Amino acid sequence: SKLAGQRKAMIPSVHWNDIGGLEYAKKEILNTIQLPLLYPDLFGDIARTGVLLYGPPGVGKTLLAKGVATELSLNFLSVRGPELLNMYVGQSEQNIRDLFHHARLASPCVLFFDELDSLAPMRGRSSSDSSGVSDRLVSQLLTEIDALNKTSTEQDTGKNENVQIHHVFVIGATNRPDLLDESLLRPGRFDKLIYIGVSNLHEDRMKMFDALTQKFNISDNNFDKHEFVKRCPLNMTGADFYAIASNAYLNAIQRSIKLKVDSSLQKQNVEDDESKTVLLY
Ligand code: ATP
Repeated sequence: SKLAGQRKAMIPSVHWNDIGGLEYAKKEILNTIQLPLLYPDLFGDIARTGVLLYGPPGVGKTLLAKGVATELSLNFLSVRGPELLNMYVGQSEQNIRDLFHHARLASPCVLFFDELDSLAPMRGRSSSDSSGVSDRLVSQLLTEIDALNKTSTEQDTGKNENVQIHHVFVIGATNRPDLLDESLLRPGRFDKLIYIGVSNLHEDRMKMFDALTQKFNISDNNFDKHEFVKRCPLNMTGADFYAIASNAYLNAIQRSIKLKVDSSLQKQNVEDDESKTVLLY
């Protein structure tokens, strides 16, 4: 199916240290997923399958899901709620089945559902408008998640998949948990809830800023980073800090290109090839 087939499951490259701050969420998600992997005998059937990350946009929910996959060398397969809805309209339950099948084949694997709230039933619409698509979608999703929890003897889907059945971790993300269908939150489904919010503590903001300046290799020799962060407006998210750091990086690149171009233009008898290379940088 298109939904499963077009995407490739891969181990992401979000290093744990790329995630600044969020200490509590990092610890919680790592424990939830790593301990059952390390001690399958201890956890057995009660190992959690689903984690729900909730909180405002831009705080690092997607980053955290990718980070945990990277840290534990798990494949990562992601799908956005609206995408799922579109794919689902007029199509069979087969799409969802294929998606989970794909995840099992990629096991050990994180299956990430972003914007999970988009599957919430549309309220306030006249009944003639609502096709019940999201209801059917959610119930198919539940069936598949429940199937992940079943023991191998209950499975009838082919022997090779069964061995790895406990190594598909479902992570959902939403900024409107209140909209979610309650059945998604029941035990065995998205039952481990982790809140990620915006912190205005200087210490937390510094951790985020430090992670990003490291990532973009920004030197703090020339400015007082503490002072800088203190002057940043309150309620800035990781995404906002990301925008600052990536802009600084782009500006630095532009400056260095300009320097190179300027200095090569000043040179006498610049070889054609040489100046072309500089301009193409
Ligand atoms: P949305 O609800 O809009 O999907 P989200 O919570 O999933 O938001 P991300 O997509 O994870 O947010 O974050 C957006 C960008 O902001 C990321 O690419 C990341 O680089 C940066 N970012 C967010 N939080 C952090 C953080 N704690 N440390 C470093 N970078 C961060």
